[in-house]
Amino acid sequence: RIAEGSAGPLTGIPLAHKGVFCTEGVLTTCGSKMLANFVSPYDAHVVSLLKAAGAVMVGKTNMDEFAMGSSNESSWYGPVRNPWDPAAVPGGSSGGSAVAVAARLVPASTGTDTGGSIRQPASFTGITGIKPTYGRCSRWGIVAFASSLDQAGPMTRTVRDAAISLGAMAGHDPKDSTSATLAVPDFEAVLGQGVRGLRVGIPNEYRIEGMSQEISDAWDKGIAILKAAGAEIVPVSLPHTKYALPTYYIIAPAEASSNLARYDGVRFGSRVMEEGDNLNDMYEKTRAAGFGAEVKRRILIGTYVLSAGYYDAYYKKAQRVRALIAQDFKNAFTQCDVLLTPTAPSAAFGFDYKPSNPVEMYLNDVFTVPTSLAGLPGISIPGGLSKDGLPLGLQLIGNAFCEESLINIAYTLEQAIGFNAKPERIAA
Ligand code: GLN
Repeated sequence: RIAEGSAGPLTGIPLAHKGVFCTEGVLTTCGSKMLANFVSPYDAHVVSLLKAAGAVMVGKTNMDEFAMGSSNESSWYGPVRNPWDPAAVPGGSSGGSAVAVAARLVPASTGTDTGGSIRQPASFTGITGIKPTYGRCSRWGIVAFASSLDQAGPMTRTVRDAAISLGAMAGHDPKDSTSATLAVPDFEAVLGQGVRGLRVGIPNEYRIEGMSQEISDAWDKGIAILKAAGAEIVPVSLPHTKYALPTYYIIAPAEASSNLARYDGVRFGSRVMEEGDNLNDMYEKTRAAGFGAEVKRRILIGTYVLSAGYYDAYYKKAQRVRALIAQDFKNAFTQCDVLLTPTAPSAAFGFDYKPSNPVEMYLNDVFTVPTSLAGLPGISIPGGLSKDGLPLGLQLIGNAFCEESLINIAYTLEQAIGFNAKPERIAA
């Protein structure tokens, strides 16, 4: 095709898709026993677009079950290991896609991000990941977790590759009613425009207590680089930040409990039914056997917050707080063009880290969840290495549908940081 002159922007580029994307004729398991034998009869819209752009799918990647998690440990197929240190988690839920890129198996992979699942694993594995604005990429054919938050995006080694891949994945799709009708800009064209005169906001509330010195140092380095490149640094306030995690962990499980109701043994995936069982027996046995502990926990929480008597106190309240969080960003973007923050509060943690309760694990999402609740785009790029030699990510957050400025600024940062470390095993 290249010789013929009919090549697309990704002709011949090997690509891996997260196990959440439907791929015609190939297993789509979503990291779950429930879908262990599920073969989709069609491709997700973004999968079709990438195919049309010339990319060649070489495989599907492991992930946290139904995209719920921050460490990839909730997959029914077992955890993904981090190539920087096999004793460390790769982040989640798009951990398999992150590692496929970090370990140089493929130059690009797809991920989905509901509360951080592209950005946090990108941060933990030293690669680049973009969560576009909600509506930029079609959700059609992506196994739904929390539909008002789910977005697809690319995971790559460089900002340029992310720009090219996002260009191929984005665009209006009439099959997704929340898909934006905007034209797709040439994201690659903005690389190198520079940041002179741009205003970069630094949210006060992201200097959280207990943040490690190395994260704080990487953040300060990013600030200094953008300042030296001609950007104006503006302190801003996002006062409702502290409510983002509790809000997310009501809304996401609520939507998940509704979305996952379809796995009942009738239409999708596995069915457990014994001689003499009635319909309810089948539902109960199928769901008990097919879902793992984290998925069950979310379904229970979600069902609870949506139930009569609790709906107003939890779900409706969370929706109101979500609006306030979105308003915080609107206010901030009257003072600045983009926000710079760390991606995650730590480097990749070890498999030996055992949170004393599930909420401790949820704290990982503290810097990524607010953006998701507001539907805004965010990108994570490598900001440096921790003292243990693990990657640390920096996040840029943009206004709605301003991926171009996000990509341009990320590129300036990337060029100045010059991150060229590789996992030791890969370098050898
Ligand atoms: N870690 C978050 C969660 O467990 C985010 C997951 C995601 O973005 N898919 O819900």
